[in-house]
Amino acid sequence: MATSSNTYDVIIIGAGAAGLMCAATAGYRGRRVLVLDHANKPGKKILMSGGGRCNFTNLNSTPANFLSGNPHYCISALKRYTPQDFVELMDRHGVEYEEKAPGQLFCRDSAKDVLNVLLTECEWACAEVRMETSVNKVTENEDGYRLATSAGELTCESLVVATGGLSIPTMGATGFGYDIARQFGLEVLPTRAGLVPFTLHPELKQQLAPLSGVSCPVDAHCHEHHFREPMLVTHRGLSGPAMLQVSSYWQPGDEVHINLLPAQKIQEDLLALRKDKPQSTLAQYLNQHLPKRFAQAFNELQGWQGPLQECRNADIEQVAHTLGDWTIKPAGTEGYRTAEVTLGGVDTRQLSSKTMAVKERPNLFFIGEVVDVTGHLGGHNFQWAWASGVAAGNEA
Ligand SMILES: Cc1cc2nc3c(=O)[nH]c(=O)nc-3n(C[C@H](O)[C@H](O)[C@H](O)COP(=O)(O)OP(=O)(O)OC[C@H]3O[C@@H](n4cnc5c(N)ncnc54)[C@H](O)[C@@H]3O)c2cc1C
Repeated sequence: MATSSNTYDVIIIGAGAAGLMCAATAGYRGRRVLVLDHANKPGKKILMSGGGRCNFTNLNSTPANFLSGNPHYCISALKRYTPQDFVELMDRHGVEYEEKAPGQLFCRDSAKDVLNVLLTECEWACAEVRMETSVNKVTENEDGYRLATSAGELTCESLVVATGGLSIPTMGATGFGYDIARQFGLEVLPTRAGLVPFTLHPELKQQLAPLSGVSCPVDAHCHEHHFREPMLVTHRGLSGPAMLQVSSYWQPGDEVHINLLPAQKIQEDLLALRKDKPQSTLAQYLNQHLPKRFAQAFNELQGWQGPLQECRNADIEQVAHTLGDWTIKPAGTEGYRTAEVTLGGVDTRQLSSKTMAVKERPNLFFIGEVVDVTGHLGGHNFQWAWASGVAAGNEA
């Protein structure tokens, strides 16, 4: 164990979800651990997550819920630290939670509960968390790493980079972790905003403007990745879980396909309706299955008028296609300003999937969102933060 006051066994840069989990794990192994963060408070993203109630895991999380250039990388860590393990940690601390959607666990009271668990664990494991400390430079020395920080020079045997992604810069996000990776010869895959609302071209934005605030369940897909969840129209564009999920697979210029009535057999319904109630209109059909405001505006957008008896089979087929595969080309996304995650990052091909350490440098670790592993919406990103934090904490 290290002895000098400025010398630690493990220094972790980033007091977020992954960094704190790693700190407690390494601390319990008897390692002298210091967590450094330039922000004024730890775990800011935990506090703002899940609408302030932190969707801290997903009981159904599998590697299929993650995007990465190296899809197998996350398997080992996720298998060794499971959603159930994190639930047990919450239980040990008496945190109350609820399953808001299948598998998605949220704090019943406040996201503060999750942060308090992590900080308490760090305290019990004697891991020190030092805020408002910026790291200016990292260099390698014989025994490990030397950090030039705003609190002076610090050294450590193992360095863990847990600086997160680029989303929400106002919460302290920086690209510093990527800089360290590049400094030590690692590849950083191009980054982009994920789990982020779409912006629309002016014409469609104007047409949808009256619908701001309306939400409806849809099946949305981009590049064959389907998500059956609610979509929300906002004054800026399209949001809601379905759009956020799809955004992670979307690249500029791509189309997004939206089935507005995923629970209906639209063509069959309309043909039957024309036969049974020839005077009924498309507007009436839409009103039955979509929120009224949405039905009305979508009907106007498409210019559908008159009773169904005036529709030919080809018209009905066309209407069914428009409703079942409404295709839009987003102008872009809201970007890192509102994105929940950052796609891309430190290339995992250079890291050990067991320990999260750089293969060529077994005492340099990258964990959490800074690496090229990004989860779907629904608690998967925190599960990755916990699992990768524990994997590194068991080794650092
Ligand atoms: C609005 C929002 C809601 C979300 N909701 C959920 C949810 O409900 N469920 C879910 O699973 N995921 C959610 N996420 C995603 C989740 O918050 C992240 O995936 C997770 O926090 C990543 O953990 P991390 O430890 O890697 O990074 P972070 O939690 O971002 O922590 C990184 C830390 O590093 C520090 N740091 C950065 N640069 C430096 C530097 N140069 N020097 C020192 N310190 C530095 C930062 O200040 C920060 O404290 C949400 C994200 C957002 C933005």
